[in-house]
Amino acid sequence: MSKMVNTVLGPVSSDKIGKTLMHEHFAFGYPGFNGNTLHEKDPADIVRIGVEVALKAKAHGVQTIVDATPNDCGRNPEILREISEKSGVHIICSTGYYYEGEGAPAYFKFKKGLGVAEEEIYELFMGEITNGIGKTGIKPGVIKLGSGKNVISDYEQMFFKTAAKVQKETGVPIITHTQEGTMGPEQAQLLVSEGADPKKIVVGHMDGNTDIRYQMETLKHGVYVGFDRLGIQQFVGAPLDKERVAVLIGLIGSGYANQITLSHDTVNVWLGAESPFPEELAKLLEQWHIENLFQNIIPALKEGGVSDQTIETILVDNPRSIFSA
Ligand SMILES: [Zn+2]
Repeated sequence: MSKMVNTVLGPVSSDKIGKTLMHEHFAFGYPGFNGNTLHEKDPADIVRIGVEVALKAKAHGVQTIVDATPNDCGRNPEILREISEKSGVHIICSTGYYYEGEGAPAYFKFKKGLGVAEEEIYELFMGEITNGIGKTGIKPGVIKLGSGKNVISDYEQMFFKTAAKVQKETGVPIITHTQEGTMGPEQAQLLVSEGADPKKIVVGHMDGNTDIRYQMETLKHGVYVGFDRLGIQQFVGAPLDKERVAVLIGLIGSGYANQITLSHDTVNVWLGAESPFPEELAKLLEQWHIENLFQNIIPALKEGGVSDQTIETILVDNPRSIFSA
């Protein structure tokens, strides 16, 4: 059964979203970036780079890109709308807040102290999903959540509980950030116990973790695991892509192909000042771009015996199921 999905250009049938990258960022800034007024980015440059990136993905058959940028990290739906118009690629944007450690917790911590945070978060998520973001009329198609390394803090739990409630009322899928692939089973358990539908949950960045038993512990809740940082190697606690491929082949061979999503978590424009990575790290991050999946990961999966049909399941059928469950 198909359902309508909110893209930045309006509703699209889930049957029509096609091959989908489930977690990328056209532009991202760590909260605080906008304090550096010396490096304000020109929206026209973000659009130009975004269109180039979207067209590269489109050349590999990608029809839809989910931009998982949370509200506190520079999310800009009008820029995404222009990228979508100019590239012909569907873009689905998010509503939500980043995890406590790298997000902007001050505002809602203050509200928590007043005892009104959860109510306000609920109104924010519902308002954006129902009426659009600000005055743009653009509606988010996913709720973005995050938790820290080995913990889902009190602050983060407010967002998880509220998101589950909002999903029950709106049907909007949830995409999460796990730090270094930790707290996967706990995130799934928390969301499902609060009433979210596991078939509409992607526990993200689980490719930060190469323990296949831990993946299965998460998968047993019926959720998807996102191998969505392909190309990020030995940075922010990440393993190597070849280790990820080995885990993927193991999971696929164990029958989990219909619970996996693939993406890169690319940051195509860093908001704030752009600082080069140190040389050794830059070398490891050379494949962190929108084509890594198609140029390196899929060929490696095929070499490991994964069929074209299974790859199609992961890139086309799974996103469609998530958005039509
Ligand atoms: Zn991300």
